[in-house]
Amino acid sequence: MDLFDKCFAFTRPEELQDIGIYPYFVPIAGSEGTEVEVDGKRLLMVGSNNYLGVTHDPRVQEAATKAINELGSGCTGSRFLNGTLELHEELEHRLAKFLGREATLVFTTGFQTNLGVISSLVGRGDVIFTDRENHASIMDGCRLSFGEIHKFRHNDMAELEALLIRHQPNRRGGQLIVVDGVFSMLGDIVDLPPIVRLANEFGARILIDDAHAVGVIGANGRGTAEHFGLEDECDLVLGTFSKSFGSIGGYVSGRGEVISWIKHHARSMIFSAALPPPSVAAVLAALDIIEQEPERRTQLHENADFMRKGLQELGFDTGPSETPIIPMLVGDQEACFVFWRRLFDNGVFTNPIISPAVPPGMDLIRTSVMATHTRDQLQEVLDVVAKVARELRLVA
Ligand code: PMP
Repeated sequence: MDLFDKCFAFTRPEELQDIGIYPYFVPIAGSEGTEVEVDGKRLLMVGSNNYLGVTHDPRVQEAATKAINELGSGCTGSRFLNGTLELHEELEHRLAKFLGREATLVFTTGFQTNLGVISSLVGRGDVIFTDRENHASIMDGCRLSFGEIHKFRHNDMAELEALLIRHQPNRRGGQLIVVDGVFSMLGDIVDLPPIVRLANEFGARILIDDAHAVGVIGANGRGTAEHFGLEDECDLVLGTFSKSFGSIGGYVSGRGEVISWIKHHARSMIFSAALPPPSVAAVLAALDIIEQEPERRTQLHENADFMRKGLQELGFDTGPSETPIIPMLVGDQEACFVFWRRLFDNGVFTNPIISPAVPPGMDLIRTSVMATHTRDQLQEVLDVVAKVARELRLVA
């Protein structure tokens, strides 16, 4: 068999394109944040992770422009060698202070952060306990490590406990429990208190991926551990700049010695070019906004509550969502694609999420709201969803 045989047989994208329901890689021509232009048509954006709407804030745009003018378009090298800017270190200090942690390390993407953090910390003889619905970058970080991997059912603390108990007699090395703070597809929050209790009982370390939680939950936007009042109990938190921070990049925060270890062992950072100046500057400006404008977070949650309630009143199952990520459970792949297309044609940009990103039969349309959506915009989305969903008989 030839290596490329599977590629030649892979015709699903073309089949979906032929019937006009291929939903991926949609090219956006223009954007104002809450509204985008595709093919000359205006669409309301409810499929982005721009939770606080900072991508188009003039302060963020000006900071990025200034940085590109003063420092150039890229770092052309790794943080380790020629690619560390004073601006990276300023961001690391600011984030450590914001998160109340000893030290922070900035990576070029959130994906690389998970790869580098997990694979540098977990080695042969160590064990990872990971939620089945954790992000792909956590899964891949686990695979890259030489540790043993134990997966537990989503947010199932009884299974986590059983796995920990079963592992103890064979225990040789360290143990890491890794979870998303806010799960990216269903919008639910991890059940952190039992994880902390189990980690203390069994001597495991905790890593939380706060990609969808930082800037969003916690009284000051510090994420999942702040939300539960358990910041001192969580060893490491990591996140991305590609959502609330409106840029790109990732970070990990924790004890100084641990961050230093990661800094000198994380291959995804050492062997990859550094985050470019405009991206770093945009994050710094976004951090100012996150710190100084808590009203954005309040608005975000009011918008999310309005949208979730509206979708539920239409008859949709929004699953366990309790954050600005609000799914409409559809349950069938083809129905999801058709629903997505009709919403798109009626001016609403959403994301269809199918297996394996969600368990089979849980196929869904993922919506996510921003602090900068107006009530009129959200009402317009709900009106379109109501019309299309009734036409397709997805709701009564
Ligand atoms: N972790 C989670 C939970 C995510 O949702 C994402 C992005 N979707 C990442 C990590 C990766 O972040 P980035 O986009 O910065 O690579």
